Parts: sequence; structure tokens; C-alpha cells
Amino acid sequence: MTPGDDGISALRAHHFLCLTTFAGKGYSPDFAANLSRVFGAAQRGELSRLRATSKADLICGACPHLEDGSAADGCAFSASIAARDRRMLRALGWRENQEVDFAAAMDIIHERHRELMRQVCRGCDWEALCAEERFTLRPAKSPPREGKPEPGPV
Ligand code: SF4
Repeated sequence: MTPGDDGISALRAHHFLCLTTFAGKGYSPDFAANLSRVFGAAQRGELSRLRATSKADLICGACPHLEDGSAADGCAFSASIAARDRRMLRALGWRENQEVDFAAAMDIIHERHRELMRQVCRGCDWEALCAEERFTLRPAKSPPREGKPEPGPV
């Protein structure tokens, strides 16, 4: 899926959540390779602005469940998946096609990950894996060690 006329790529709203704990797995080798590419671009800060959507996106492009790549709702599970996207849009107060700052979105999603999973992810095949909260897009913040002050500016 290529960027829109404004040069901004669209990402399904629930895929913002998927990216935080992506572990290299997926529905097929091609799907996992494509998602790894998107994940790498996100890690390198190359996806600074995105449009949040409930339609097929750059991750769906290599998915074996995308039955009609030319159709915005070509996913074989489009009814339930679009409902998941809408739950994510609602939870974050985003509108369909809203342009979002990726880094700011990630701050919120990491902070509210458990609550968002509860609201958004029911019925997903990967729910148990993501619920382990092994954050891969950004290193998890480790808690301060007992008796040692947290490092700060000097
Ligand atoms: S299952 Fe559907 S929504 Fe999920 S990546 Fe595949 S085509 Fe996209």
C-alpha cells in the first residue's frame, strides 16, 4: 500500500498496537517479512506521521487474508477487524483518517497498553503473545533498582 496523495501512509488503528510487541511472527513468511520491514521503518523513525484508518494498509499488503488488494476492505475478516480498528480509534479519541504523530502515539500506547488491549484486542489470534508485554519497538523502561537513585541529569 503506497502513501496517499499527501505522502502520508495509512495504518490500521489496531496495527499501532501490534507494532509495540511485534516478535517477528505472522500469518505467513511474506507477511512476517513485510511487517518486519514496516517495524524497522517505525524503529528508525521513518514513519513520523501516519493516518489512522479502519481500512487495508501497508501491513495488509502482504497478508494471505487480504482477498482483494485493490479494495480498501479486502480483508477476509473485514467486519471484525474494522470493528477492532474502530474500538482503537474510539479508545484514543482519534477520527477515521486522522493524521497522527507516530512517536506521540507510541508514548500513549505504551503507557496504556494493558487497558488498550482489554478494549481492542479481544478475539485476536495473537492476544496471548502481546499480553506478555515484551515491548520490542522501544526498550521497556526498567524500574529503578532498590537503594540506588535513578540516573538523572548531572
Ligand atoms: S488479517 Fe486482515 S487486517 Fe490483519 S493484516 Fe491481514 S488483511 Fe490486514
